[in-house]
Amino acid sequence: MSLFNRCLDLVFPQRCPVCLNSSDSFLTAPICSACWSSVRPVTGNLCNVCCRPILLKSDDTPPVVCEDCDSLKPSYASVLAFGLYDGVLREAIIKYKFSSLKRLSRPLSDLLCSMPIPHADLMVSVPLTKNRLIERGFNQTLLLAHHLSREYRINLLDDCLVKVRDTGHQVKLSRQQRLSALHNAFEVKSDVKGKRLLLIDDVLTTGATINECAKMLLRAGATEVFGIVLARTV
Ligand SMILES: [Zn+2]
Ligand SMILES: [Zn+2]
Repeated sequence: MSLFNRCLDLVFPQRCPVCLNSSDSFLTAPICSACWSSVRPVTGNLCNVCCRPILLKSDDTPPVVCEDCDSLKPSYASVLAFGLYDGVLREAIIKYKFSSLKRLSRPLSDLLCSMPIPHADLMVSVPLTKNRLIERGFNQTLLLAHHLSREYRINLLDDCLVKVRDTGHQVKLSRQQRLSALHNAFEVKSDVKGKRLLLIDDVLTTGATINECAKMLLRAGATEVFGIVLARTV
């Protein structure tokens, strides 16, 4: 541990929320370096469209698209998720979002940057409503998008999407309930005509938010929308 981190630990002793040992890395604190290094990308048979793990019986040949994407035909071309919303990654995202630990944006966006990002003209991030922005103090997704934009040299349209309606906490809603709650919740404020877009969000649950944003962006003239998220729920 560096002298700086030792001093920091003396002043602000922090415990890793995963293993409960003291945190030994300022970069990923409060998560310790051992727990952070256990974060792995999602692997296995994944849906080509929504990145959902597809369970196979031993004699199955892997389908390339899951049943939901096959029947519902999402507006986005595809979504890439770095990992599953589980374990250390889930803990890191929760700390980043709800304890406003902005410094975690750097190691989290490094995870995003390790993915094979599709070629795109512009980047857009999923917005928060004004009320939610005041409550959190920052837009966690926009901060990740800024890092990604610099790394890939793709311009980020800061205020392209605006969330005009608070849709409440959607954790317990079904996909259908989410879709109706999100209907007309977003407006497009920038010119995206003829552009291929990367849409950044933190967590993909049912895909309803990314789907609604992609729908509005296509309606505004975008040619294709690809989603990039840190994690998808299991
Ligand atoms: Zn730990
Ligand atoms: Zn799918």
